[in-house]
Amino acid sequence: MRHPTWQLVHRGAYALKREAAGIRADARGYITVDDFLETSVPGVYGLGDCNGRGAFTHTAYNDFEIVAANLLDGQDWKVSERLPGYALYTDPPLGRVGMTEAQARASRRPLLIGKWPMSKVGRAVEKAETLGFMKVAVDAQTQRILGATILCTGGDEAIHGLLDIMDANVPCTVFQRAAPIHPTVSELIPTLLAEMKPAT
Ligand SMILES: Cc1cc2nc3c(=O)[nH]c(=O)nc-3n(C[C@H](O)[C@H](O)[C@H](O)COP(=O)(O)OP(=O)(O)OC[C@H]3O[C@@H](n4cnc5c(N)ncnc54)[C@H](O)[C@@H]3O)c2cc1C
Repeated sequence: MRHPTWQLVHRGAYALKREAAGIRADARGYITVDDFLETSVPGVYGLGDCNGRGAFTHTAYNDFEIVAANLLDGQDWKVSERLPGYALYTDPPLGRVGMTEAQARASRRPLLIGKWPMSKVGRAVEKAETLGFMKVAVDAQTQRILGATILCTGGDEAIHGLLDIMDANVPCTVFQRAAPIHPTVSELIPTLLAEMKPAT
């Protein structure tokens, strides 16, 4: 008789017993890990949703990349270096990365805030899907993007333009000489940044 793995796990046949291994968890049951995803038991790592550092397929996979790179390639990659990013597959979809505007304001940095309505994005108008907006918060001194939201048709894809710039840790002024492709949602990102205003 065949036993699919999930059935065996469900029945406890292969169930790992965290407590028996002496691996600590927090009050909410998340396995406690350090910045390299190592648990309280040296040599045992906690990857994925179980460590409370992410709740997504891409964060679980990134956990694997971090541990594999550190153990096998001698790298020094910390999970705290990961930018929080996600999408909600609503209609229109939401793409998010980094701080929200509220979090950026709470950080008490001098801020530039940009917001652009989809009613002024050619691609959205052509698709008759003008619901939504794009928004960005930038550190006025360093010109680093702190966080961004794109809630609109294609927002889950377009957010990566901003996510990549944040990961590259370069000032958002790199967009000034860009020639983005028309007609796309992303083509308005340089405009969004050019139209930013100091936060009041
Ligand atoms: C309905 C739904 C939709 C989602 N959509 C998205 C999405 O669109 N994009 C996205 O990025 N993320 C999405 N997620 C989240 C994503 O599925 C998880 O973040 C991801 O699967 C986490 O991977 P993981 O390996 O940590 O855990 P899992 O994929 O949950 O794997 C954990 C495995 O461990 C097994 N297990 C549990 N306890 C024990 C034990 N004691 N011993 C042995 N084995 C054990 C489980 O049976 C399971 O097979 C969604 C989640 C749900 C529920």
